[in-house]
Amino acid sequence: MRNLNIKDTFTKELPADPLLENTRRQVENACFSYVTPKKTSNPELLHVSPEMLENLGISQKEAKSKAFLNVFTGNSVLPNTKPYAMCYGGHQFGNWAGQLGDGRAINLAEIVHNNTRWAIQLKGAGHTPYSRTADGLAVLRSSIREYLCSEAMFHLGVPTTRALSLALSGDQVLRDVLYNGNPEYEKGAIVCRVAPSFLRFGNFEILTAREDFKTLKTLTDYTIKHFFSHLGTPSKETYLAFFNDVAQRTLDMIIHWQRVGFVHGVMNTDNMSILGLTIDYGPYGWLEGFDFGWTPNTTDRQHKRYRYGNQPNIGLWNLYKLANALFPLIDDVKALETVLDTYKTNFERDSLKMMRSKLGLEMQDAFDASLIKDLEANLQLTETDMTLFFRKLSDFNSEKGADGLEIVKEAFYIPTEITLEVHQKWNSWFQKYAERLAQEETTSEARKATMNAINPKYVLRNYMAQLAIDAADKGDYQLIDDLFQLLKNPYSEQPENEKWFAKRPDWARYKVGCSMLSCSS
Ligand code: AMP
Ligand code: MG
Repeated sequence: MRNLNIKDTFTKELPADPLLENTRRQVENACFSYVTPKKTSNPELLHVSPEMLENLGISQKEAKSKAFLNVFTGNSVLPNTKPYAMCYGGHQFGNWAGQLGDGRAINLAEIVHNNTRWAIQLKGAGHTPYSRTADGLAVLRSSIREYLCSEAMFHLGVPTTRALSLALSGDQVLRDVLYNGNPEYEKGAIVCRVAPSFLRFGNFEILTAREDFKTLKTLTDYTIKHFFSHLGTPSKETYLAFFNDVAQRTLDMIIHWQRVGFVHGVMNTDNMSILGLTIDYGPYGWLEGFDFGWTPNTTDRQHKRYRYGNQPNIGLWNLYKLANALFPLIDDVKALETVLDTYKTNFERDSLKMMRSKLGLEMQDAFDASLIKDLEANLQLTETDMTLFFRKLSDFNSEKGADGLEIVKEAFYIPTEITLEVHQKWNSWFQKYAERLAQEETTSEARKATMNAINPKYVLRNYMAQLAIDAADKGDYQLIDDLFQLLKNPYSEQPENEKWFAKRPDWARYKVGCSMLSCSS
C-alpha cells in the first residue's frame, strides 16, 4: 500500500486537542483528539469490498497482504499519518446530550484517489477520549449489519457512507443485548468505513453549545472549502447557502429511505451527516409490512420517535438544531426559517414525485396525491410486504383488465385477513390506478422497466442479516459474501436468488435481531 495518496486536511486545518493521553474527558477548543487504535490479539479479515478497494487505489493483491490486515484492524498505523477521534455533541431522542464524539471510531487518514477524497475510519478499534463509560469496541453482529447494509444502500442509490472491510479482532467483547442484566461475551469485530467526510450536525452543535464561535467558523469554513466549494468564499450568504444545501441533501436522503423502506432507528443529531449521507448503521431495519408506525429500535419502542413515517419530520427537527448551531455565523432568523419552510414544501413535492415514480406515473395529475394516500391506507389494512408489493405491481397491466389483487397477492402476510371489505377497498384502488395508468403515454413494458429500476427486488431484510450473523457466530462466513453479491444488483432479476424475494419467514417475526434491535452493539 505504498502508493496510497494520503492527503490529510482535517488534522492539518482544524484545531487539535493538545492532550495526547487517551483518557476520557471533555475536549474544548478543538475538533478532534489524536488517538492510536488498540492492538488486537488475533485479527482476521472476513470480507473486503472490491469496489471500495478500487475507489481507494488499493489492489486485490495488497488487500491480501499482512500490511493491509494490520492497518485495517488497528495493529499498525499508516506511515506519515496520525489517527484521531472527532469531537461532537448531539441531541439524543430530543434532548441535548452534551459531548459525545467518536467513542469507538478512529479516523486513520484521508486518501485522494481519482480526484475523490475519502476519509477512512475504523469502527470498534478501542476507546478514545470520547468513549465515556463504554469500551470503544464493536461486536461481530453489529459489524456485519453495518458492513452489508452500507454497501447495499450504495447499490440501491441511497447516499451513504461506505465500507471497505470487515474483520474479527480476535478479542471477546461483553454485551448485554437485551439490557436485562445478562451480559455475554461475543466476538469483537472492526469495520473500516469510508466517506468523503464523517462530519455530523453534532460537530457544529458542540461548538455553539460551548460558545466557541471561533472554532465554529474555522470548522464551517473548512467544510465549505472541501465539500461545498461551489458556494464560494465564506460570508454570511455562503453560510446560509451551506445550510440550505445541507437541508436539501438531508431531504434527498430521507426521501430515498422512504422509497426503499429503510428505517434508520436512531436519527439523533450526532447521527446526521453534514453531507447528507446515511451514517451509523445501528438498530436500523427494513420495512417488511408497510407501516408508518414501525421502528426497529427497542429503545424507542414507547414513543416511536424514529418510526418510518416520522423520518421526514425528524430530519426537519434535526435541521432546526443545526440552524441554531449555525446561527452565530448567519445571524438572520428569518433567512434560516425560510430554508426550513422550504424543506417542508420540498418534502411534499419530492415525496409525491417519489411515490409517483414507484407507481410508474410519469405524467402529473391533480388526483395523484389522493391515489397515493388511498394506497398507503390500503397497504396498512393488513400486513403487506412493501418490497414484494411494489415489485409485483409493475406486472399490473391495465390494458388487459388484470386482477390487481391477484398480481400482488404474494405480498400479503395473512391471506385470511383479506376480508370482503379489504378486498373491495383493493379492487376499488386498482380500478382507480388502472384509470390513471390509461392517461400515461408509455407502454406497459416501458413502465415495468422504469418501475423496476425504482422498486428494488432485493433488500437486506432484517432476518437475512440475522442468518448471516448466526452462521458467522458458528464460524461460517459464506452467507456474508452471498448477501454482499446479491445486494450489488438489487434492481435486477436474479433467478438463482429468488428465495430472497420472499416474505419474512414466520420464525423471524419476533426473534431478536430480526424484528427488534437495541443500541447495545
Ligand atoms: P450511537 O447511538 O451508536 O450513534 O452512539 C452514540 C454515542 O455513543 C457516540 O458518541 C458513540 O461513539 C458512543 N458509543 C456507542 N457505542 C460505544 C462503545 N461501545 N464504546 C464507546 N463509545 C460508544
Ligand atoms: Mg452514532
